[in-house]
Amino acid sequence: MTFSHDIVIVGAGGAGLMAALYAAEEGADVAVVSKLHPLRSHTGAAQGGIGAALGNEEEDSWLWHAFDTVKGSDYLGDQDAIEQMCKDAPRTIIELEHYGVPFSRTNEGKIAQRRFGGHTRNFGEAPVRRACYAADRTGHVILHTLYEQCVKKQVRFYDEYQVLDLLMTEGGTCNGVVAYEILTGDVHTFHAKAVCFATGGYGRVFKTTSNAHAGTGDGFALAVRAGVPLQDMEFVQFHPTGLYRLGILITEGARGEGGILRNSEGERFMERYAPTVKDLAPRDMVSQCIYTEIREGRGINGKEYVHLDMTHVGKEVLEHKLPEISTFSRVYLGIDPVEQPIPVAPTCHYAMGGIPTNVDGQVVRSGDRSDIVPGFYACGECACVSVHGANRLGTNSLLDLVVFGRRTGMAMAAAIKADNKKAALSENPEKRTRDTLESIMARSDGEKAVSIRTDLQETMMKNVSVYRNDDTLAESLSDLKDLRRRVKSVTVEDKGRKFNTDLMDAVEILFMMDYAEAIAAGAKNRTESRGAHSREDFSSRDDENWLKHTLFFGKGDDGYDIEYKDVTITRFQPKERKY
Ligand SMILES: Cc1cc2nc3c(=O)[nH]c(=O)nc-3n(C[C@H](O)[C@H](O)[C@H](O)COP(=O)(O)OP(=O)(O)OC[C@H]3O[C@@H](n4cnc5c(N)ncnc54)[C@H](O)[C@@H]3O)c2cc1C
Repeated sequence: MTFSHDIVIVGAGGAGLMAALYAAEEGADVAVVSKLHPLRSHTGAAQGGIGAALGNEEEDSWLWHAFDTVKGSDYLGDQDAIEQMCKDAPRTIIELEHYGVPFSRTNEGKIAQRRFGGHTRNFGEAPVRRACYAADRTGHVILHTLYEQCVKKQVRFYDEYQVLDLLMTEGGTCNGVVAYEILTGDVHTFHAKAVCFATGGYGRVFKTTSNAHAGTGDGFALAVRAGVPLQDMEFVQFHPTGLYRLGILITEGARGEGGILRNSEGERFMERYAPTVKDLAPRDMVSQCIYTEIREGRGINGKEYVHLDMTHVGKEVLEHKLPEISTFSRVYLGIDPVEQPIPVAPTCHYAMGGIPTNVDGQVVRSGDRSDIVPGFYACGECACVSVHGANRLGTNSLLDLVVFGRRTGMAMAAAIKADNKKAALSENPEKRTRDTLESIMARSDGEKAVSIRTDLQETMMKNVSVYRNDDTLAESLSDLKDLRRRVKSVTVEDKGRKFNTDLMDAVEILFMMDYAEAIAAGAKNRTESRGAHSREDFSSRDDENWLKHTLFFGKGDDGYDIEYKDVTITRFQPKERKY
């Protein structure tokens, strides 16, 4: 079947719903296509907060926020986009409040704010309370409010439709997507004037991750296949405090409320590495410090974890401000944080890189920022504006979603008003998708997706995580080559049409191969250490050669090309990063 809408948004997390809402507010006909029910999107798992210099609890300014974000990005973020985000933050939060987001409150009834890593007052002087929050369920309340508003504005939802192809005309204009209806097994075409990807992150390509099962990074792969580059994929954020072995997240808000990291000697080791902000240093630093402690023999009981100590914070704060994470710790580890420290280790958390866009969500296909792909937009974690550069600060992802989701929605609505034509579809737009699905279903012997995925996750975790070097990266690339061969024989046991999750697992492993290579190849190519990309063999930042964005162009079995794009610098010249 062919569905036709002005705007088709793929993904119903915070970014997709924000874009849908603001486009619908302008009167556009908007459809949201999502492989999950919208309320199951990963945005609903976001815990700690959303950053904005509201100054409700102490003095703050958007310029300090912008400085912190640039410094946090290890100077790789584009400063014009960062300024836009930090300036837009307060008004966007107030709009969310007016839409009905139930934020926690101060005694005077203002939106409550707390501390988070890397957020400071007066250009690095001391930590500042900038994270607006709703206990530790901030993403949950934002997602629910946005969904209600979208329903009210009559946005059309196609739930549990998984997009498997991005459609382009021969001239390179994007005009729709092809999706698989999970309930029935039918394949449909969505014809549109504008397509927006808001498909979220790729945490599941690593063995230990805080991300939900659906975080398989489909959007990154679909973009690569359509000839669109991926930007800065080597920058993968490992959050310092995942529950040991499980990777389930303990929000940075726990340290914002006073939690302390300790090694096997009981030492508050972050005091040594970041004397000013201590446990509230940015994530790249804290994750690297935890691994250094472990490597030097100060992991707890000689194992690969440290302690997050909340015992001095008090039951009251834990119950009222951090109820979810207290429950996680009790349920998953049997540890009550009121009485005992929580065992934690870094967990793969966030994609700094992604589909390159400008501040209006238009996808840019080369180092020339005016070279856009007509009709194709992206926002949220799958996009790279780039406001996070080499390392994202906590609370800046939810902010990125709402600021750039809003701008993208408005930009799409304006583009449609200016030019109301839909580029014609090709004769058989579903062919590629049907061929892929049929060949997987027809295969009688071969390998199941799960075993290929396990090996992929192992090599990424072992070779491309917090510390990397030329040898580990070469090993990962050679493993990926081998996996690319194995994936060609991926097969399924379930040959039915309805709810065939086996088939979707197979499709997702094909996707994962396409962008895993971008992460490993970008990391091997970048011979410096910057932000979350920490090379043991090139341990310093090298602005002379590497103050530039990576653009990865995948060519399937024929390898890849790497090109570069300048970093935009406005006010803040690169300096050594000290906290
Ligand atoms: C546990 C956790 C806690 C976090 N806490 C915070 C925090 O406190 N503050 C903060 O700023 N950030 C936080 N983050 C990061 C932030 O939540 C995410 O970066 C953000 O929510 C991503 O939003 P998104 O809209 O881009 O994508 P998601 O919310 O991940 O949504 C992706 C959507 O895309 C759809 N989709 C994907 N592929 C397809 C496909 N092929 N076809 C159709 N639909 C598809 C999915 O169905 C889903 O609706 C946290 C992340 C995690 C994992």
